[in-house]
Amino acid sequence: MVARLVLALVLAIVAGALVGVPPESAAQGREVNVYSSRHYDTDDLIYTAFTGETGIKVNVIEGGEDQLVERIRSEGANSPADVLITVDAGRLWRAQQAGVLQPVSSATLQARVPANLRDPDGYWYGITKRARVIMYSTERVNPADLSTYEALADPRWRGKVLVRSSSHVYNQSLVGSMIEAIGAEATERWARGLVANFARRPQGADADQLKAIAAGEGDVAITNTYYLARMAKSDNPADRAVAAVVAPFFPNQGDRGAHVNVSGGGVVGTSRNRDNAVAFLEFLTGDAAQEIFARASNEYPVVAGVSLDPVLLAFGSFREDSVNAARFGANNPQALQIMDRAGWR
Ligand code: FE
Repeated sequence: MVARLVLALVLAIVAGALVGVPPESAAQGREVNVYSSRHYDTDDLIYTAFTGETGIKVNVIEGGEDQLVERIRSEGANSPADVLITVDAGRLWRAQQAGVLQPVSSATLQARVPANLRDPDGYWYGITKRARVIMYSTERVNPADLSTYEALADPRWRGKVLVRSSSHVYNQSLVGSMIEAIGAEATERWARGLVANFARRPQGADADQLKAIAAGEGDVAITNTYYLARMAKSDNPADRAVAAVVAPFFPNQGDRGAHVNVSGGGVVGTSRNRDNAVAFLEFLTGDAAQEIFARASNEYPVVAGVSLDPVLLAFGSFREDSVNAARFGANNPQALQIMDRAGWR
């Protein structure tokens, strides 16, 4: 009964959203339809600025990350979507594999987006960047005892490590990056050691791991950087109390660097406004758009030299793993097998 009600609500929301997209006949080539998993008010400022500069109207359809690709696929040739924006290179890779994106060659995008943060064939481009790092209790952990992702498998961390489920793409991409760096066998040994060190059965999202550190359930966690930044800036005193006793540690600074991933976008294969779509993506890599876009989600701009949010600035600069983010997706099936065999639920 409840499920039926929820389904009816979802269908109503989807139908309402569809009405928001003007029919093709009204398009006349002066619009771009963006399917985005982002929900930030300031994104609208950027879209308005794009319209002001180009005269191209931006119609945004928001949806869940995994839902948007499925929606474009089910809409098929009739999809109004021109641009897909979602988080994690693993998901962008999946969208490409699902056949919903088309390759784009743009001198602007190639110059603005570092090569490791975009698909080698131009199917998607990173727009913002996040690091997935070690978070630690400033009350119980000496950061001098931290070094690499690999070292979290050391028995000294028995019962201390917090991380979300292996079913989430963030962990799949991290493990994909480790397969790339140290090979499948060493990655599996590492995963087994990490699981042996878990403080609890994986549960919750990244923010819940930070809360668990503050609550003393574990001492170290693996999470994306922006969750800590968001809590540090929160209106909720409980969130700020968590952020006050947790700090980021950027691992592997003596070798390949910390794992970085992207939020990014690509042009939809069936786009009827391809030029507008490319212009839109190019606009998002402009300095002003980069700053606003990254600040909204507490992420890092992909374009070098764009000013950082003060909280991120306080995290400090760090060496990034320069492996191409497309490898996270390519290694995904193997990463899933490894985590499964290691008992990472
Ligand atoms: Fe996230």
